[in-house]
Amino acid sequence: MQNSTGTKGKLVVVSGFSGAGKGTVMKAIIDTYDNYALSISATSRKPREGEEEGREYFFKTREEFEKMIADNMLVEYAEYVGNYYGTPREYVEQKLAEGKNVILEIEIQGAMKIKKQYPEALLIFMTPPSGEELIRRLKGRGTEDNATIMSRMRRAIEEAEGVGSYDYTLINDEVDKCAERLHNIVTDDTKTYNKDVDLINNIKAELAQIVEGE
Ligand code: 5GP
Repeated sequence: MQNSTGTKGKLVVVSGFSGAGKGTVMKAIIDTYDNYALSISATSRKPREGEEEGREYFFKTREEFEKMIADNMLVEYAEYVGNYYGTPREYVEQKLAEGKNVILEIEIQGAMKIKKQYPEALLIFMTPPSGEELIRRLKGRGTEDNATIMSRMRRAIEEAEGVGSYDYTLINDEVDKCAERLHNIVTDDTKTYNKDVDLINNIKAELAQIVEGE
């Protein structure tokens, strides 16, 4: 578990609102800093347009996924909106052993399972800077109908419920700054946790107001 600087690879879990821009920040951190590895999950959901096998996910049938569970090939898995998602064990263990910081971009049930198995894992909850900004991102390019936008908002409200279990909140205002802050959290061993639960609760309340007003 030692890397070239003599420190251990860390396991870093990133969860948070859909619309927080997690994927973009993950790409920035991998491109900007050495010593990170991004775990690619297995899922039983169908590929979306533009997604590639082995890049976004390893796409499996439910049967294949259940075999991976039975063979203990996953560090954690969860069912989310009717599909399985899970983290392949071998990659994570291998990269940690090489001294890499391994990032898992997973939802909360998985995050809690990781914390049990790896108590030293860092749990990070990512959010846009404000409710207004999140709503703008959830509305996307104006191509989705109102029902889809509302269901995304409901999902974001659910996602906010678990923020208390995370070690840090991380605000994604600008991608590069956010990647830098994430890197600082990972490399800072002082464990001065920065957690703005009020911000998340305020965003949640803003979303709830809109959803209830529908
Ligand atoms: P999507 O279908 O939008 O790609 O992902 C849905 C949710 O599943 C996201 O919140 C994502 O973070 C989560 N997810 C992706 N991979 C994994 C995984 O390996 N394990 C768990 N528990 N959640 C995952």
